[in-house]
Amino acid sequence: MTYIITSLCLRDGGCMDVCPVECIIPGKPVEEWPWMYIDPDTCIDCGACVPECPYEAIFPEDEVPDAYEAQGGEYICKRDLTGHYENTDHNGEPVVLETTRQLEAGEVIDLTPDIEENYKFFAEGPGYAAQED
Ligand code: SF4
Ligand code: SF4
Repeated sequence: MTYIITSLCLRDGGCMDVCPVECIIPGKPVEEWPWMYIDPDTCIDCGACVPECPYEAIFPEDEVPDAYEAQGGEYICKRDLTGHYENTDHNGEPVVLETTRQLEAGEVIDLTPDIEENYKFFAEGPGYAAQED
């Protein structure tokens, strides 16, 4: 098993600093791979990243919700969305995303397609290869 970062991720970066095996990789280019991604072959399932996420975006793979009920106001980020988001990450560095949407209170969304996105990021390589430049 592995842990999965879902489309609730807003690139705060806090999870990366606590991962003992450094298997959390920021997606690039950000328009194409807007989250951080967990390398499933390296993750040791320790769960240390989960409490570090201010947006509660990280789940064990078998607990990613298929009916996440929004509190209202939180963002999701996917490459086919067009909403603007900006903030600072946990280091005070700017985060700007142009592929977001704010959820409405009570809206229910399926986060399980995000599992496949995580595997694709590592299997298909374009985002992962960009980290090595
Ligand atoms: S802490 Fe949460 S929001 Fe920040 S990069 Fe990690 S998963 Fe994304
Ligand atoms: S569960 Fe542990 S090893 Fe896996 S990504 Fe999170 S902090 Fe890293």
